[in-house]
Amino acid sequence: MANIERKLASVRKVTDIRPIPDADAIECAIVGGGWPVVVKKGEFQVGDLAIYFEIDSWIPHELAPFLSKGKEPREYNGVLGEKLRTIRLRGQLSQGLLLPITLKLNLDFSYLVTAFERDLQEGDDVTEILGVQKWEAPIPACLAGQVRGNFPSWIPKTDQPRGQNIVDEIFEEHKGETYEVTIKLDGSSCTIYAKDGDIGVCSRNLDLKETEGNSFWNAARDQGIVDAMLVYNKKTGHNIALQSELCGEGVQNNQESIKGQRLFLFDIFDIDGQAYMKPDARISLLNEHIVPLGADLTHTPVLHLAMCVTDCFANLDELLAYADGPSMNPNVKREGLVFKSNDSDFTFKTISNEWLLKRKEK
Ligand code: AMP
Ligand code: MN
Repeated sequence: MANIERKLASVRKVTDIRPIPDADAIECAIVGGGWPVVVKKGEFQVGDLAIYFEIDSWIPHELAPFLSKGKEPREYNGVLGEKLRTIRLRGQLSQGLLLPITLKLNLDFSYLVTAFERDLQEGDDVTEILGVQKWEAPIPACLAGQVRGNFPSWIPKTDQPRGQNIVDEIFEEHKGETYEVTIKLDGSSCTIYAKDGDIGVCSRNLDLKETEGNSFWNAARDQGIVDAMLVYNKKTGHNIALQSELCGEGVQNNQESIKGQRLFLFDIFDIDGQAYMKPDARISLLNEHIVPLGADLTHTPVLHLAMCVTDCFANLDELLAYADGPSMNPNVKREGLVFKSNDSDFTFKTISNEWLLKRKEK
């Protein structure tokens, strides 16, 4: 089971060009049938291959100096540049950056020329060669902790592809499938595993030592999950990993306004069978086994148990609009939704554009 690495910069096809009302100099290009990007009028034609940079990319200054709008570029991990965010231009949503495939290469970037002399094909990943990094907010100390080891290789890291990158898979390949739809909480990923009597608590990328100030371990103990998992593992011999989102004070913006910190379950991985449990089996295991053993653990809010996505939504725009709405805390906008198929192991997420536009940048 491959962990999904995001292709932040890749070769993509322009699938549509749409005018922007009352704008003379700009128009909206649709990339790969999914992402809208505002571009200069006439710069791209339908069918062109171009280099697309997704939101959250850190773009080296030399690649697109205009992003700094005449100001000094900012710095991230020692690289001068700018971060790509979701914006609106003249009312049009714009997500990411599109550059011609014939990048006018600055002399400082001459080492790239050789790479670009090869024929680039649709789908090619050019993230590394262009020096693009994923921008991540600094991690607070309570979430960093001391390392016990790498994230276990026998558990997949949590993540799902974004709907915009897999439009055909959703609407063609997986047509007719029903999905569990849960609210995506904006916290920090935590995996707790019980394997052959051993228990481990991991952050998104690391297996963590139990230390006093570590939020993941504290929540796992305080909510009784560690003890419940150990008993479950001993009684049944079943090796499992619970994947949950840590939300609360000091985590992201705590938009759910949770007192203290709490874990919310969203997946269970069957380590012995090397497969995710299907939604209904996961919810039964939680409520009929883990909770009765004393774990004070709730699931991320479930909006639907079996929604047929292709019956409910005619296209990506309709599916994305459904991501907008109230969160677990009904007074705030949700980050988005996660869709997990009941019929295959296909999953994806939709991030709310309303939420992306409103989000407080750190
Ligand atoms: P991202 O936050 O964009 O990296 O999206 C993936 C992450 O969403 C996962 O790694 C989880 O930590 C988190 N997440 C929050 N809520 C859910 C949910 N209901 N289902 C699955 N993942 C979720
Ligand atoms: Mn997240």
